[in-house]
Amino acid sequence: MVTEIAAEMHGAQHRGTVASYIPPLASVPADKFGLAVVMADGTVHTSGDAEEAFSIQSVSKVFALTLALGAVGDQLWSRVGREPSGSAFNSIVQLETEQGIPRNPFINAGAIVVCDVLLGRLQPREAIAQMLRFVRELAGDDTIRIDETVAQAEQDTGFRNMALANYMRAFGNIHGDVGMVLGTYFHFCALAMSCRQLALAGRFLMDGGRSEGHRIITESRARRINALMMSCGHYDNSGDFAFRIGLPGKSGVGGGILAVAPGIASIAVWSPGLNEEGNSHLGQLALERLVQRTGWSVFEPR
Ligand code: GLU
Repeated sequence: MVTEIAAEMHGAQHRGTVASYIPPLASVPADKFGLAVVMADGTVHTSGDAEEAFSIQSVSKVFALTLALGAVGDQLWSRVGREPSGSAFNSIVQLETEQGIPRNPFINAGAIVVCDVLLGRLQPREAIAQMLRFVRELAGDDTIRIDETVAQAEQDTGFRNMALANYMRAFGNIHGDVGMVLGTYFHFCALAMSCRQLALAGRFLMDGGRSEGHRIITESRARRINALMMSCGHYDNSGDFAFRIGLPGKSGVGGGILAVAPGIASIAVWSPGLNEEGNSHLGQLALERLVQRTGWSVFEPR
């Protein structure tokens, strides 16, 4: 079925628009498509460009949140909300009415606070190394790396993120050095992973906090991260993603989506063309077809 869906996507007319705000993303060919499905029993199905590394961008916000919860636990929620934003991923407007507390950890402002929390205990270099270790361990793959060209390009053009961080600092919700916090955030966004690596890394969310039998986080924390992915994982398109696909998922402007069918499968899809809200157009379509054919939606009666 994975091969069948990839073939259908290959022939798609409308592919969305590739992100153009930095050259390394703008130059990714629009016709790329990869899909990887890791089943609960460990079987891996891949198709298309599933072995090719791409910029995971905001999908990294899931791993950053997991690390921050590990560092400070539920105290995190005094600094970041848990509500869908209904606004663009890089919106600043709600920060004014909500006293510098971002709506959720999956919009830029929220992920920047998450980075600040991690830097409460670590130097930027250590936090970046910790992230790399974490995703490598989750995926069981030491070849995962951070694309320094992407990190630098994010840094060179990240004026909006600088505005968000400084604005939150004015409200007292960024404690560390803004430059260091953003440097860490940009490096997380610059993680390069293939669909296979990403789907493998997502196993702990499929399996109640365990990956290959090892406990990574508690079951209740995995459940809560999945809930946030369902309600906030697709920017201001999250309601529609839940409606069409019905799985916890997190997207990034590199065109990747990590989706989780709890107890069943961890799924990663990549197609660089985005819809208007910044989510992979074919990635969502492929997930929609997968869920229609398998009945994996969490809203399906079991
Ligand atoms: N690096 C991007 C930014 O901060 C991430 C955007 C995304 O994937 O949502 O603008």
